[in-house]
Amino acid sequence: MVEQLKTLARMQLLDDQIGKFKHLQLELPKQLNNLIDAVDQAQVQLLESETHRSQIVKKIKSLELEIKQHNDQIKKYSGQLSEIKTNKEYKALNSEIAYLKTKISDIESIILELMDQEALFKQQVDKDKAVLEEAEKHKREKEGDLRRQIDALEKQIEETRSARNEMALTLPVNVIKHYGSLIKHKNNQAIAYNNAGACSGCGMVLRQQIRIELQLRKKIITCESCSRILLDYFDTLEQ
Ligand SMILES: [Zn+2]
Repeated sequence: MVEQLKTLARMQLLDDQIGKFKHLQLELPKQLNNLIDAVDQAQVQLLESETHRSQIVKKIKSLELEIKQHNDQIKKYSGQLSEIKTNKEYKALNSEIAYLKTKISDIESIILELMDQEALFKQQVDKDKAVLEEAEKHKREKEGDLRRQIDALEKQIEETRSARNEMALTLPVNVIKHYGSLIKHKNNQAIAYNNAGACSGCGMVLRQQIRIELQLRKKIITCESCSRILLDYFDTLEQ
């Protein structure tokens, strides 16, 4: 009987291990997705700030072209000034030239503002590039390892499970069935211990009679509350 109790304790340790593997099966793909998402997000962010920057550069170029057109016009008007006969026409052309010069100076102020903005976006682009580089580096370093771990889990679970099943072969069929049902329905925890007089599975205080029977180790005892198989801490874990 003692041997059976020890076997049950060992089986529970293996099922604990299987539980950890299963948890990793949920957790590791999330970590992998986070790595990939971080790179995707950094790429989107960089594209956004590069687009903003290039829009500003384009705007500056088109304003510079406008200035050039105004300057050409001024040159043309200045050439015409010498050919003008009346004072009225002369005045009209001069005021047209003055108007174009004011326009040029307005556009120049706008260009200066845009250049400030462009400088800010350039800083943002540099920052986003650094973030992307960091995310890619992180992904390069971790991705392969994570994928290997994920791929290995199924096999690890399979191996642990068959080791547990092998142990179970030495137990009576009704005990195996009870154990299996507890694993399934009691949160992967079939075995509970006498924890200072209470069931470690559900916390129920154990009757004196049960405690004595646990120490005697003559039969398999189950918790009257959660029906987990009860073992005595010192008897089972240390051997
Ligand atoms: Zn219990």
